[in-house]
Amino acid sequence: MSFYAAPVARLIEEFEKLPGIGHKTAQRLAFHILNMSQEKAERLANAISEAKLKTKSCSVCGNLTDSDVCSLCSSDKRDRSVICVVEDPRDVVAMEKIREFKGLYHVLHGVISPMQGIGPEDIRIKELLDRIGEGDVKEVIIATNPNIEGEATAMYISRLVKPLGIKTTRIAHGIPVGGDLEYADEVTLAKALEGRREI
Ligand SMILES: [Zn+2]
Repeated sequence: MSFYAAPVARLIEEFEKLPGIGHKTAQRLAFHILNMSQEKAERLANAISEAKLKTKSCSVCGNLTDSDVCSLCSSDKRDRSVICVVEDPRDVVAMEKIREFKGLYHVLHGVISPMQGIGPEDIRIKELLDRIGEGDVKEVIIATNPNIEGEATAMYISRLVKPLGIKTTRIAHGIPVGGDLEYADEVTLAKALEGRREI
């Protein structure tokens, strides 16, 4: 038997499914929401529902967007000759925060990981090659995370892109091995971009 009224137990259960949230935190969040006004609680519920409903992957770069082509891909202020390849939409946010990069992005939505059964065909590598095939790209900066999967993915991509006569670089200094782009501070990430080397 649950100690909570059924709707409360259900809310706690849903919170517990979220990353990094254990039972105690789930309980705290649920009770916090129960103490909110009906209006505030509904605003939260609507924000979740709308974010899910209205967000999709950009048909060009794979970044999250609420339009068919994202604001970065459709901007006329971006340098179309450079594509920065990242693992995750969160990495686009991290890169944009440093305000150094003016090119376009390509979000892979993952990395090659034989251990987890993720092969090159499971991430957006083909889409990257299609974009390069369109002809405007002069440099591909590979900014996957500096861990084993990130490095292996970078090597795999460079082996496909370099023979096409495209400069292929890898972000370098500053990001600790095993580190995560998303958590790198802005100065570190700016340095890593500046110090990219050809691979
Ligand atoms: Zn886009």
